[in-house]
Amino acid sequence: MAKIICIANQKGGVGKTTTAVNLAASLAAAEKQTLLVDMDPQGNAGSGVGVDKAGLEESVYDAIINDVDPSGLIVGTDLAHLDLLPSTTDLAGAELELVSMPERERRLKAALARLSQRYDYIIIDCPPSLGLLTVNAMTAADSVLIPLQCEYYAMEGLSQIIKTIKLVQKGLNPGLAIEGIVLTMYDGRNNLSRQVSEEIRGHFADIAFQTVIPRNVRLSEAPSHGRPVILYDITSRGAVSYMELARELMTREVRRG
Ligand code: ADP
Ligand code: MG
Repeated sequence: MAKIICIANQKGGVGKTTTAVNLAASLAAAEKQTLLVDMDPQGNAGSGVGVDKAGLEESVYDAIINDVDPSGLIVGTDLAHLDLLPSTTDLAGAELELVSMPERERRLKAALARLSQRYDYIIIDCPPSLGLLTVNAMTAADSVLIPLQCEYYAMEGLSQIIKTIKLVQKGLNPGLAIEGIVLTMYDGRNNLSRQVSEEIRGHFADIAFQTVIPRNVRLSEAPSHGRPVILYDITSRGAVSYMELARELMTREVRRG
């Protein structure tokens, strides 16, 4: 059975997709069978692993709205052990279409249940909102990993997402855990970065990852080459930090288990 982790934060541009792509790639590099699920209609996770959504006829949209078997929707990537369940722009309409559907919050969970045996990890990249697509991801997941950009309003945004996680735990998915908070785009020369980091470690000591993702230009260049950073520049600080995040995630699990 796969461990399902959703990468969520209602703010855009905080590093969700970068984290989803590169954490998934690092787990695959550790020979864990990994599926990256793109739940953002923008399809950035797909392009980050070299899959062009323009060439796709069907996507995760068809799995959640039309009950299409997701096995037939999966595409391989250049990296061994890493597959993608892609998104297409249709998914933008799903947020509204879902509203009137039966089991509207549990559609992704039902789809992923058909794939779970085949993978060690399923990593879901969420859109920048706390709407039904993100709620579907949280309902399907074992845990939520929250990327947090080191900026002034970071803490405020955090309380909002934690509220949503509590609501999902109450009604839809009592087993949902917080996998952790990971600081992204960290710049040690910047006072604000250091302040946010200290504040998070003060308030959330038990769930903040030790690993911090630095601001690194290789991480922002890699998607335009359609490659996770480990295939673009494995020696970069960005690549090393995401491999370290994967290692921390796997060792935490061993300790908990
Ligand atoms: P989100 O999915 O939350 O909207 P992205 O992962 O797409 O955020 O990141 C937003 C932008 O910041 C992208 O252009 C991405 O390449 C860049 N970026 C993300 N993380 C880093 C980082 N650690 N260093 C440098 N650029 C980054
Ligand atoms: Mg994104």
